[in-house]
Amino acid sequence: MSLASIQAAEKKLLLNTYERNPYLFVSAKGVYLRDENGDDFLDLLSGIGVSALGYAHPAIDKAIAQQTATGLLHTSNLFYHHGTAELALRLTEISGMDRVFFCNSGTEAWEAALKLARANATKAREEGKTIGTKFLALEHSFHGRTMGSVATTHKEKYRTPFAPVMPDVEFVRFNDVADLRAKFSSDVCAICLEPVQGEGGIHPVSQEFFAAARELCDSTGALLMADEIQSGVGRTGKWFAYQHYGIQPDVTTLAKPVAGGVPMGAMLCVEKAAAAITPGMHGTTFGGGPLACAAAIAVIDTIQNEKLLSHIHEVGGFFKRELEGLMKSHDSIKEVRGLGLMLGMELHSAELAKQIAAQLMERRIIINRTSETVLRFLPPYILEREHVEMTIAALDELLKANTVLAGVEPAGETIHG
Ligand SMILES: *Cc1c(COP(=O)(O)O)cnc(C)c1O
Repeated sequence: MSLASIQAAEKKLLLNTYERNPYLFVSAKGVYLRDENGDDFLDLLSGIGVSALGYAHPAIDKAIAQQTATGLLHTSNLFYHHGTAELALRLTEISGMDRVFFCNSGTEAWEAALKLARANATKAREEGKTIGTKFLALEHSFHGRTMGSVATTHKEKYRTPFAPVMPDVEFVRFNDVADLRAKFSSDVCAICLEPVQGEGGIHPVSQEFFAAARELCDSTGALLMADEIQSGVGRTGKWFAYQHYGIQPDVTTLAKPVAGGVPMGAMLCVEKAAAAITPGMHGTTFGGGPLACAAAIAVIDTIQNEKLLSHIHEVGGFFKRELEGLMKSHDSIKEVRGLGLMLGMELHSAELAKQIAAQLMERRIIINRTSETVLRFLPPYILEREHVEMTIAALDELLKANTVLAGVEPAGETIHG
C-alpha cells in the first residue's frame, strides 16, 4: 500500500487517537530510519525513548532470534522460563531495589506502583498505623493513560473527558517544597514524581524537593515512587535518574527503553513495600514473557559491555553545551534543560517550536515537541558527536530563517545581558 492509501485506510479504520507525521518507514539501522523512498532519517527521538540501542543492534537481534528459535514466545506466569530471574537479577542490581513485577508497558508499571502504595497503606493500617489513601503527584506530571495513571497525570485534557478517574489525588506545585510540606500528611500513601519530567517538558526535580519528599515519606511510611519510564535504564547517563540525586525511592517504574523496542514494563520496589503483595493480588498474562526478557537482558548487557553510560554522559554533555551555544545567537530560545540524552530546548513561541520540529523532519532529522514550546531530544544511546553537529547546524539555520516568525529581532542587532 502507498502512504496515501494507508492514510486513507487508517483514517477510516483506526480510533482517532493520533496525528501522525506523513512518513512511511520500512527499515532501520543504527541511528537511521529509512522510508519508502529510500531516504534515511536521523532519529533523535527513538520512538519516544524506546529504541535505546538504535536499530538492528546485533546483540538485540541475536537475543530475539535465539529466543524465537526455541519456539517459546510465551509461557504465561503459571510456569517458569529462563529469562525472568536473570533479568530481575540485573534490574535489582542496577537499581538498588529488591523485587520486580514485570508487565508490558509504562502505564501498567505505574498502575502496579499505585496498587502497591494502596496495598502497603492497607497493610500498615491493619498493623495499627495511621496512613491514608491519598496520592500526591506533581504539576505537569505524566504517568500514563489508564484510569489510575491518568488520575496522577496533571494535564486536565487527559483526565476530564474520562471522569470520574481514580479519586484521592492532589497535585503539588513543581519543585515547591513549601507546597509539598503543606499538602503532605498521614493521609498520604505515596508521593509520585518523575525525577526528570518527560512529557511535561524535560524538567528535573530539584535536589531539595526530592530530599524533602524522601524525608516526608520516611516520617509516615508513605512510599516515595519515582516514575522512570522515560528517564530510566541509562537515558540520563546513570541507570536511573534518582542516582544523580543519591536518593533511593521505595518504588520505581521503567518501560520505554528496557527491551530495546520489544514492549515491556517493570515496577521495582524495596522489600518493605513488596511485603504488602501476596499471590493472586496482582498479575498479568503477558508480563515478563520469554521474548521480552531475552531482549531486555541483551539491552542491559550491551549498555554494560559497550560502556554506554559514560558515552551517554559524554555525548549528552556535548549536545547540551551545543544547544546552549545556540542560545547566544537566537533570542527565540528560552532555556535548555536535561540530563544525559534526555534533553529539551524551550522556545518562547509554541508556533515556532511546531514549525521547527516539522522543518527538521523535512530535513530528515526526527525530533518532537512536547509541552507546546519544548523541542525534545531522546536519541538512541549510540548517538555520536557528528550527529549532534549535523543537528545543531540544521537548528541554527532553521532558527535564523524563522526569526521573523518568532517575532524577535535577528541576533547580532540586539544587546545581550
Ligand atoms: C511514556 C510514559 C508513561 C506511559 O508509558 P506507556 O508505555 O505509554 O503506557 C508513563 N510515565 C512516563 C514518565 C512516561 O514517559
